[in-house]
Amino acid sequence: LADSGASPLPAPSSSPTDSRWSDTNTFAVKKKLLAWYQLSNGDWSLGKILSSSGGESLISLLEDKVLRVNSEELLPANPDILDGVDDLMQLSYLNEPSVLYNLQYRYSQDMIYTKAGPVLVAVNPFKHVLLYGNDFIEAYRRKSVDSPHVYAIADTAMREMIRDEVNQSIIISGESGAGKTETAKIAMQYLASLGGGSGIEYEILQTNPILEAFGNAKTARNDNSSRFSRVVQCAEGERSYHIFYQLCAGASLALREKLNLRAADEYKYLRQSSCFSIAGVNDAERFHLVVEAMNVVHISKEDQHNVFAMLAAVLWLGNITFTVIDNENHVEVVQDEGVNTVAKLIGCDVGQLKLALSTRKMRVGNDNIVQKLTLSQAIDTRDALAKSLYASLFEWLVEQINKSLEVGKRRTGRSISILDIYGFESFDKNSFEQFCINYANERLQQHFNRHLFKLEQEEYIQDGIDWAKVDFEDNQDCLNLFEKKPLGLLSLLDEESTFPNGTDLTFANKLKQHLNSNSCFRGERGKSFGVNHYAGEVVYDTTGFLEKNRDLLHMDSIQLLASCKCQLPQIFASKMLSQSDKPLGLSHRSSVVDSQKLSVATKFKGQLFQLMQRLESTTPHFIRCIKPNNFQLPGTYEQQLVLQQLRCCGVLEVVRISRSGFPTRMSHQKFARRYGFLLESVSSQDPLSVSVAILHQFNILPEMYQVGYTKLFFRTGQIGVLEDTRNRT
Ligand code: ATP
Ligand code: MG
Repeated sequence: LADSGASPLPAPSSSPTDSRWSDTNTFAVKKKLLAWYQLSNGDWSLGKILSSSGGESLISLLEDKVLRVNSEELLPANPDILDGVDDLMQLSYLNEPSVLYNLQYRYSQDMIYTKAGPVLVAVNPFKHVLLYGNDFIEAYRRKSVDSPHVYAIADTAMREMIRDEVNQSIIISGESGAGKTETAKIAMQYLASLGGGSGIEYEILQTNPILEAFGNAKTARNDNSSRFSRVVQCAEGERSYHIFYQLCAGASLALREKLNLRAADEYKYLRQSSCFSIAGVNDAERFHLVVEAMNVVHISKEDQHNVFAMLAAVLWLGNITFTVIDNENHVEVVQDEGVNTVAKLIGCDVGQLKLALSTRKMRVGNDNIVQKLTLSQAIDTRDALAKSLYASLFEWLVEQINKSLEVGKRRTGRSISILDIYGFESFDKNSFEQFCINYANERLQQHFNRHLFKLEQEEYIQDGIDWAKVDFEDNQDCLNLFEKKPLGLLSLLDEESTFPNGTDLTFANKLKQHLNSNSCFRGERGKSFGVNHYAGEVVYDTTGFLEKNRDLLHMDSIQLLASCKCQLPQIFASKMLSQSDKPLGLSHRSSVVDSQKLSVATKFKGQLFQLMQRLESTTPHFIRCIKPNNFQLPGTYEQQLVLQQLRCCGVLEVVRISRSGFPTRMSHQKFARRYGFLLESVSSQDPLSVSVAILHQFNILPEMYQVGYTKLFFRTGQIGVLEDTRNRT
């Protein structure tokens, strides 16, 4: 199979070897073919093979650079007629550089959307691209364009919902800053336009500014990042949730007075990072837009006022300070403006608030005792209260919006859900957050695989081909590692979290003791452990795991909220009580950890299961967002960064899955027309007979194709041989 052409340089080895493409199957490195060569910086460069023999090839790269390389290091490149195809499945060679190149080629022409089989890949342009608005919406609605687009996905979802009477979901994933939230909004825009662009559709669109103000914050990676908990701590250069800055900047004089509001930089929670503004964003203006949006979605003025009071209470909580009163580091709350304002805003007694922040009621044997808190315990208690106030407020706000839009009542029985969910994460240091996120992604990946599997299966069965020859990878083992009881990661974490003497180290040791034989688990040194995820191995550092897993909010704080005269804290408290399995009367604590309370990981798992259950009953549509650079810059495409995301978000997985099936399909007619002229002898005109004759003449191995009733199905790359021959002829 070595090169047949003349080599201008002497070959180093005299025996020609079988230098096959390391990527796939039966292709040989041949003269004139295009190939990928990996440069020392990891990027792939395209070149033309000048000659090849003895396991070595001479390749001419861009800028006329000629290299002699080991043939096994080359990967086949696609013929240039396939440059920029709008579905990666059309590529003859589906290796990583070919996929990267195709996306880059399209990206450089502002074609940010590409299909990878059933999945839409969206590369963040970080600039305004001319792909949106009414004309485009109209064109996709009339189906007068068919290039890949979020609109096309939304349109398909709508049509399938109506046609099949089945709920639909659009599942958007990708890493921070990749464009998930923007993509979700683009999908919503399309769906809303189908309703004529007014009425309920307009109201639904107006939920975006509200949800973003309360749920998004500036981070190092994204000026408008969807976040969970960052109320009490904030890294340098980042901000807390937008709404805090908006409120401080935009509240009217009357509101400022009522809430005793100050400028953002007078609040300790906000002052932790020296960042108070975002380039190009006017917080005061945004505040008015949020209030306007709240009006549109029918949140009453009174409720709005209550919401702002809770925000101010959270900010003032952060300003509460403590003084140490004895040599055991026990504290009292400093009686100042901070604690007074919080008490006023949530409507409780100042004395009760001070007690709740500096003591804890406990039950020891049959006695009730009151224990003073140390400084660090008191700070944790205060911060936990602030966090849970904010979390409850957010949850309540979403409920109000749903209620006022009558999401439940107006339902015609069918829905399209849009899921904007954090993607798989793997950093130098991975903690509890990554642990939860990656666990969720493992579940979503399974959902994704099953769906693909089903789609493929349907098409094969329809065309009568041998389904048993298709082999799909499954990530059930990894899910078992997380979920198995009693010896899975989550169970062991919960168990250790309830032990008063449990530490991150004892947790890590327990994992190693029980899980070392699991093939998805790897014990690491010290407090670390590794998990073999579908997207690669991630090493987790257990530091902080137990603390993050225990819900820090104490019963004393919940009771304080229940005692408040204001409506919202009361609602929050009753919700918290109904969520823990603890009856109201049992307010005493017997150990450091309240064993009755659900751990964070268990709650997370519960919510994840609910989500999966909802998704299972829908027809899913997948969008994978890709961030082409870390600088939020247009026109900058970093291969290695993109590659790593393609691996993580499962795009290469789709490619891999389809490779194990028969991804290339061509009707008998088309195949006969395209390659029939290559036949040495023609005995029949019937497309099927011609097709079979071609397959035989080119020695395409039987396991590399299947003949269906209407189509021929090929393994990846098979058509490439024929295309090459056709082009060389
Ligand atoms: P996170 O996980 O942090 O919430 P995300 O994936 O939701 O991140 P977005 O907030 O949607 O990311 O996008 C980040 C930024 O990228 C946007 O603020 C916008 O500037 C830009 N962007 C994303 N998608 C597009 C698009 N289709 N057109 C123009 N700009 C975009
Ligand atoms: Mg987001």
